[in-house]
Amino acid sequence: MLNLINLTFHYRKKPALFKDFSLNVQQGSIVGLLGKNGAGKTTLLNLLAGLMPPQSGDILLNGYVPFERHPSFLADVYLVTEEFEFPQVTIETYVKAYSPLYPSFDVIKLAGILQEFELDTTSKLNQLSHGQRKKFLIAFALSSNCAVLLLDEPTNGLDIPSKSQFRKVLVSSVTDDQLVIISTHQVKDVDTILDKLVVIDNGVLLLEETIENLNQRYYFDTVTKLQGMDPILYHEPCSMGYKIIKPVDDGHESPLDMELFFNAVINHALNQD
Ligand code: ADP
Repeated sequence: MLNLINLTFHYRKKPALFKDFSLNVQQGSIVGLLGKNGAGKTTLLNLLAGLMPPQSGDILLNGYVPFERHPSFLADVYLVTEEFEFPQVTIETYVKAYSPLYPSFDVIKLAGILQEFELDTTSKLNQLSHGQRKKFLIAFALSSNCAVLLLDEPTNGLDIPSKSQFRKVLVSSVTDDQLVIISTHQVKDVDTILDKLVVIDNGVLLLEETIENLNQRYYFDTVTKLQGMDPILYHEPCSMGYKIIKPVDDGHESPLDMELFFNAVINHALNQD
């Protein structure tokens, strides 16, 4: 579904952001693209959406080279950008005008999601709050039924109830034929819905792994003291003592603490195991 082969990209007069970057992801998964601010997440999503070309290397997404911007490619990929602007029209008018661009657009699905998000189709888009506009954009993207959904920091600007509505709607909407890539630096917002993690830092791929595999390898716990807990792969202080990551022992699994895990990956703490 997505093949990135030896991708190299730099902005004008800037050093390479991605250098010989390769990644393969299959459909049927919700992928978390994680990285600190400035890691290159937005840039990567823009490259995947065909908004700019890499300097070298190949990108193949859903069978197409994105920057060739083939109409069939554009009709099957939806990028929810972090910044967006809408014309001064109602939701209803917007949907009438833009949904025909997406052949698989499902108006019934849209009505259900808008109801879940408590959005009224007669509302003028420019009179909605930033969070409400973002929810509309997410609803539109999901209803497009595009094979590829690229969501750039989708939970930024959403309040706490909206974040859980987002997770619920996304999980119930996505099918096995789709690939969803969600970029975020707010790991906790999406930790329960991901199938796979991709962590990047300064344009380098630090980790690419399914959540299932991570659960089989790493054990997460909170302990009052570190003494006698070896082997500890990574630890952080917390109010109860320490949050720790250990290798899984005797097949006992624990809920994955994605924020702790992300910090461990970014700090290169898991490289040796
Ligand atoms: P992230 O989404 O992970 O926060 P970005 O992809 O937005 O990271 O940015 C990665 C790096 O590229 C940053 O150092 C940023 O300053 C730089 N950058 C982003 N967009 C541009 C641009 N249009 N021109 C020049 N540099 C850019």
